[in-house]
Parts: sequence; C-alpha cells; structure tokens
Amino acid sequence: MTQAHLAAPRLTGVEEAKRIVLEQATTLGTERVRLEKSMGRVLAQDTIAATALPPFDNSAMDGYAVRSADTAGASREAPIRLRLVGEIAAGRVLQREVGRGEAVKIMTGAPLPPGADSVVMLEEARLREGMVEIFADAPPGGHVRRAGEDIRGGEIALKAGTRIRFQHLGLLAGLGYATLAVYRRPTVALLATGSELVNIDEPLMPGKIRNSNSLVLAALLRRLGIEPVDLGTVIDERNLIRRQMEQAATCDVILISGGVSVGAHDLVKTVLREMGMETLFWRVNMKPGKPLLFGRLSVGGSRDRIVFGLPGNPISCVACFVVFIAPYLKRVTGESEPANGLVRARLTQSLRKKEAKTVLLTAQLREDAGTLVVAPTPQQGSGMLTSLAQANAFIVVPEDTMQLEAGSVVEVLPLGGDS
Ligand code: AMP
Ligand code: MG
Repeated sequence: MTQAHLAAPRLTGVEEAKRIVLEQATTLGTERVRLEKSMGRVLAQDTIAATALPPFDNSAMDGYAVRSADTAGASREAPIRLRLVGEIAAGRVLQREVGRGEAVKIMTGAPLPPGADSVVMLEEARLREGMVEIFADAPPGGHVRRAGEDIRGGEIALKAGTRIRFQHLGLLAGLGYATLAVYRRPTVALLATGSELVNIDEPLMPGKIRNSNSLVLAALLRRLGIEPVDLGTVIDERNLIRRQMEQAATCDVILISGGVSVGAHDLVKTVLREMGMETLFWRVNMKPGKPLLFGRLSVGGSRDRIVFGLPGNPISCVACFVVFIAPYLKRVTGESEPANGLVRARLTQSLRKKEAKTVLLTAQLREDAGTLVVAPTPQQGSGMLTSLAQANAFIVVPEDTMQLEAGSVVEVLPLGGDS
C-alpha cells in the first residue's frame, strides 16, 4: 500500500472522535475485592446501609446522661443536683434506666442509657458528695448523636459507578463492607515504537533519544487504577512490530506510540491493517495529537481489542491520553458519567492561531484573588518536555476560535497533581 493511499484527507473533529471512542467503551464484568484493595476501583452495585450509622443513640461528649426535664432552670448560681447512679464507658451498655433526679456518667461514644435524653458535658457540671451539680439547662437531644443521623438502615450509601477514594472507605468500613463488587479493569499493553529509542538507563548513541512515553503513559494509567503490561520498545521494522503487536493483542487495550504518522517508517498502521484491524478513525483535527489512530482488532473467540496508536511526540501522547484515552478507560472501568474535567479560567495574555483546529497549550493554572487564571507556558511544542514539566493544565482552544484576548475566559483541562 502506498503512503498516498494511507494519508486519508479528512481529519476527524475532536468531539466526533471522542464520541467514536466512547462508543467502544463497555464494561468488562465484575469481581469482588476486599475493601482494603478497593482504592481506585469502581462500584458495580449500589452499596446499601444494612445497619444505621450510628447504630444506636450515643453521647457526643464526656459528661452526664440526664433527663432534660430535670435540668430546667439550672445555672451556675442555682445548680440542679442529680444523684449519680452509674457510669458507662464507650463499648459498654447500661441497662438500668435513668430515673427522675438521676444522672449517669457517660463517655463519648457510649450508648445513651434508657430514660436519659440529653448529655451535660463535664465542663457544665461538678461532682460533689455523690451528687452531680448541673450548671446549665440540658436541652432534649443535647450532645446526643442519634441512631441513623449519619445514614439510616436501607439507604443507599454509595451508588454504582462511584470510583472509590479514601473519602469513601470510612463509610464502607462503618457499614461492614469487607468486600465490594467492582468492575473488572481492562488489561492494557504499552508499546513504544521507533528505531531512535533507547531505554532510560542506556547511553545515548548518535541519533538516539530516550523512550519517555512508556513511563509517562504508565503513570497516567496507574492514576486510573490500571497497572500496564509494558512491552518496552521496538524498532521501525515491520516483522518486529508485528511480533510485539501480537504479544500486545493478549491485552484488552493496546497503547502503541510512534509510527502512526505519514513518514516512510511509520509502519504501525500497515502492521495493524495486516492484522485485520478495523480503523475507526485516523488523524484528528487537534494539535498536538493529529496522527492519533483508533481501531478495533479482532482476535478470534475473545473480545475485540481496542487500539490507540499514539503520536510519538511526548506532549501529543499526553494530550491524546487526557482527551481520549482517560475518558475511555473511565467508562470501561464503570465510572458513571465521568465529568469532562474542564474548568474555566481567565487568560493572562492574548492568543492567536492560524488553523481551524482544536489546540491544546501546556499551561499554568493558578488561583488569583478568588478567580482561576491560566497562562500558557513560554514555550509550546509537541516535543517540549520542559513545558510539560512546568504545566499543570492544558488550555483547550476550540476549533473555530482563532483569537482570544487577554482577560477572556477559556476552557482548561487540569492535569491533576495528586499522583
Ligand atoms: P513518530 O510519531 O514516530 O513520527 O515520532 C514523532 C516524534 O516523537 C519523533 O521525534 C520521535 O523521536 C519522538 N518519539 C517517538 N516515540 C517516543 C518515545 N517513546 N519517547 C519519546 N519520544 C518519542
Ligand atoms: Mg517514529
């Protein structure tokens, strides 16, 4: 096949490309994981509170459990005296009823004894000759945590489609979810192509550069809870690419970088076509990231494989990941309605572009006096690793916007800095 034939004239618009990608995103069944292994996984079922939280009325303070009515009118000048009839520590239960004129010493978290409806904190009381002097009115329910005030039994605690973050673990632990039904994660293969590539720890011979894409893509995958199968690098040689691709095709998703452009040594498309891949699109109207290839590879009996052929340029690679691959993987892993992640911020300078394409600029997003402002990094370029290192976001300039004034509001895709 000639290169001229491979060079399809039409570029797919970013929104259309996203739609095509997401159309292919289906979940892969479910499995059970232990709660302590569930971080980053996505719930496959609603989690229902089997019990209420808290499970019983309990004291929010160290103090005295009393009958509110007994304390009416109490003050420092005219304390009300109640008879101390017992003590309850957290973890214990006192069956004895608190009767009229009585008080029970109670610790934070201990169940409120029958008869009592309020807790007087230690600071508002004093023990004297077996009697408790109460210095203030104890309103009904005062310093009492009601059973079910956190969550009632039978209520939905977390909905299916929730990605488990640390904030969710306490609730799930509290409800006794020792294991959870979560969506399976796809296996993802990483392969970097290019005869110029050497590993990070290898010396740089003339004409060579280090493979940075694999490491960056692996880190981006781990943020989604996916540990990739890294197949390393392969030179621009048809048979070798084919052999590695066959290895990669044991995984559900294949991320292959380099060799998808229109150069003489861009053999990835050729190999994939030989292997029978159905091209769903090739080349998007986006900069950086234009050569992106997306397809479906049938491997007989089992599920079709999804292939993302990423441009080799490191910034293009990241742009394609955050715009297409991350939303795809979020949906495959069952996340419900993943947010598009965009925020709006004020531009610090004017911007101009020549072509009607979606442009992503490495940028610094920061807060200034209560508003978000964003500045493009001084250098832009699909190979500028320092610009990416300075960036915490991409400015997304839409296809049909050719000019933006300083101070105008633009859409920004934060890159996330938590891991
Ligand atoms: P390609 O998409 O193969 O035409 O590569 C575009 C540019 O990205 C070239 O300058 C390559 O040297 C560079 N490149 C390709 N793969 C990698 C990689 N894994 N790490 C860093 N740079 C790469
Ligand atoms: Mg190449």
